[in-house]
Amino acid sequence: MTSGGRDASSSLNDHVELTPPDINPYRAGNTTVPYVSTFDSGLAGPHAMICALMHGNEISGAIAIDHLFQNDVRPIRGRLTLAFANTTAFAMFDHDRPYDSRFIDEDMNRVWGAGTLSDQKRSIERLRARALAPLIDTADSLLDLHSMQSGDRPMLLCGPSRKGREFARLLGGNAAIVADVGHANGVRLRDYGQFNSSESPRTALLAECGQHWASTTAETAIEMTYRYLLSLAMIPPDLADPYLQKGPEPDHWVEVTDRVIPQSHDAFFVENFLGLETIAKAGTTIARDGRREIQTPYDDCVLIMPARRLTPGQTAVRLGRKRHFEEHHVT
Ligand SMILES: [Zn+2]
Repeated sequence: MTSGGRDASSSLNDHVELTPPDINPYRAGNTTVPYVSTFDSGLAGPHAMICALMHGNEISGAIAIDHLFQNDVRPIRGRLTLAFANTTAFAMFDHDRPYDSRFIDEDMNRVWGAGTLSDQKRSIERLRARALAPLIDTADSLLDLHSMQSGDRPMLLCGPSRKGREFARLLGGNAAIVADVGHANGVRLRDYGQFNSSESPRTALLAECGQHWASTTAETAIEMTYRYLLSLAMIPPDLADPYLQKGPEPDHWVEVTDRVIPQSHDAFFVENFLGLETIAKAGTTIARDGRREIQTPYDDCVLIMPARRLTPGQTAVRLGRKRHFEEHHVT
């Protein structure tokens, strides 16, 4: 057993390698919504949207959008919109307490259900989501940039529909492609509106680019934006090429089948899992929850985003099964 699983995230001594960019120059933007800019090529093509800072402390996404601005990356067809989401939380970012600025009032990536967006409740995050929603409604495609507590291999969360994982595969790169249905306690932007509907061509990907504050995570976030725009033929290949890391592309995707939710205050992983480990044998103990052993339900079980602090009632890890792209039993 290692001690990692029992640490409280607030007490973790995470080294912040990244510097939050100055996004004040982008406050005015050129839309009616602060911190949102849109660039129309004037030529036919999709309306693509790249979103950063859905979580205020996930600064690698803001670095990626800042990079696109600094390098005057513009679409050669269609329209590109760049948005900083939870700018209020981001403004509170503190190197010494980097976990504290994830949100102000509530998790902004749980407020995208129709009922939540239209209810009477006011929070910093709901007000911001309500301001952004009409713009998002005009996007054909969305890339939402995030980062994780641990792990260095990126993931593209593509939702439960086939169109999502096919689009994730089109991006290429070595990111793991993970299909899940989101969270019970609120709808993510990735699952908003028609993004999961098989009736609609509109597509969204949530990119987990790496550990929150590792310098490599910003490089991956920048790479993701180039891969995304390239897959939509909105930038020329030679513009993207210097940013594309070469690596083996996955021959499978991962279907999330279960989530582990501890019930006791004495829950911990038996190893310091970082995420995307494949546990070969069904029945392998991965965690203890009081007197209960938590075991993998099938062979080759993939661990998705293990939490660093295990809390009763909160998802500790999600479990996934590897699927080959040729299998089409899930639509
Ligand atoms: Zn996030």
